[in-house]
Amino acid sequence: MEKQLSKQREQKRPITTTNAGSPAPSDEYSLTAGPDGPVLLQDAYLNEKLAHFVRERVPDRVYHVKGSGAFGYFEVTEDVSEWTKAAFLNKVGKRTPMLARFSTVAGEEGYPDTDRDVRGFALKFYTEEGNYDLVGNDTPVFFMRDPMKFPDFIHSQERMPDTGLRSNNMQWDYWSLSPESAHQVTFLMSDRGTPRTYRHMNGYGSSTYLWENAAGRKVWVKYHFKTEQGIQNFTDAEAKAMYIEDLDYHRRDLNAAIARKEYPSWRLEMQIMPYEDAANYRFNPFDITKVWPHKDYPTIPIGRMVLDRNPENFFAQIVQAGFEVSNFVPGIGPSPDKMVLGRMFAYGDSQRYRNGANSDQLPVNRPLNEVHNYNKDGQMRFRYNDSQPVYAPNSYGGPQADPQRYHDPGWLVEAGEIMRSAYTLHAEDNDFVQPGNLYRNVLSETDREHLVNNIVTHMSQGVERSIQERALKNYWYPVDPDLGARVAKGLGLTITPESTKSAGKGQSK
Ligand code: NDP
Repeated sequence: MEKQLSKQREQKRPITTTNAGSPAPSDEYSLTAGPDGPVLLQDAYLNEKLAHFVRERVPDRVYHVKGSGAFGYFEVTEDVSEWTKAAFLNKVGKRTPMLARFSTVAGEEGYPDTDRDVRGFALKFYTEEGNYDLVGNDTPVFFMRDPMKFPDFIHSQERMPDTGLRSNNMQWDYWSLSPESAHQVTFLMSDRGTPRTYRHMNGYGSSTYLWENAAGRKVWVKYHFKTEQGIQNFTDAEAKAMYIEDLDYHRRDLNAAIARKEYPSWRLEMQIMPYEDAANYRFNPFDITKVWPHKDYPTIPIGRMVLDRNPENFFAQIVQAGFEVSNFVPGIGPSPDKMVLGRMFAYGDSQRYRNGANSDQLPVNRPLNEVHNYNKDGQMRFRYNDSQPVYAPNSYGGPQADPQRYHDPGWLVEAGEIMRSAYTLHAEDNDFVQPGNLYRNVLSETDREHLVNNIVTHMSQGVERSIQERALKNYWYPVDPDLGARVAKGLGLTITPESTKSAGKGQSK
């Protein structure tokens, strides 16, 4: 930025203009009747300047408000044509330009970057077949498995309606009444809840997706973006110390690393499940609160993402960037994961709310290829295809879909009656086995100590006794008796595992 400014300083300065391009009369003075005023209503330039100023903000995202991002590319390193016909993945060495946006979930634009939170990991691939958006997080699982609960969950993380304050009580109330969140909350309360930088965290598609090859063969997949910088986390104390030192630490770090040409990169590794495996897998593979164990489906490296270009204008390229879960390309589609199906509506609609119906026409969002369809008009429309007809069918050469060549990627549905229900239970569906495995088999003793301290600290801040007790009985003891006992001790509670015997069976309804 500084370099750019000093270069500009040396050039001949352009004349200030109105938004319409005509020369502006002054950068300093309003139009007045005499030197002391009054200010005149006919000062069109002043009117325009003030009117534009009060419209500088667009509505914030409702969550994932504070983010940072950068441009780069994705390079294919392995032949994946056996699994998908997606054109941008069809050749080893092929590079596709892309944008990545990382974010916190609950905090607003001025919130500290290093707050304990899940981090958004949203990717846009500008492919030759249109934009492919993969909107994931830095954790492989999520807090719920049904989109009906999503707004309630987000409300519980935000501010109280009466005081305008955030509330740990509200968070633990929601979590302890939603046992399916235990896996994600275990991640969140571990040191992975406070990544050192955006560069030092993994990204996961989290949901399961469908890949289809040119012959129509389908597989289920999960995306894992493994940081090539290595995972690094802050401790709770380090993350909090950083609030004071630098609120924008993650944003600054990403920008600075790219500016000094230390381009962050991630290796894309896929888990691939044969289509037929899903029906009889021991737990529901589409349940986003669970991972697929690596021993069942090992990760296979297929490519690499590199971020090598900072935005030139943060608002135009990062704030206005819109990521839509429903932006797929041929060869990739959703799965029966109810969360991904719900999100296919909500993300596009969020962009329509923030940027208008023509959000996809903004430079950062528009695809590289031409767009032809029958959508018409709307605020801020500036793309149009000459005098192409705006209805179908038509006799005048408008675009025509090719259903033989392009179809919705689907799967066989044996639905039964229309109903509202939890997923059908598989043999080993359980909310606590996987967070228990994480605690017992993956975390080191130091990680476990930090996890216990982080939970105790968080639950000690304004959480009612009854909610603390419920979180122990219905949550931490079922995850692991040792974890429950350590949290109980830290909170000074005398709850024992015996009082929790009935918890943890089956999937929450
Ligand atoms: P594995 O032992 O094969 O995998 C464990 C994985 O956990 C590692 O590969 C690593 O994945 C991740 N991990 C390592 N350290 C930490 C940490 N401190 N905090 C969180 N995650 C860590 O076992 P399974 O595949 O059977 O999984 C066991 C448990 O590990 C799961 O229940 C889940 O909680 C967790 N896990 C599993 C993942 C999966 O996709 N199978 C992914 C991440 C975590 P990575 O390189 O992705 O960080």
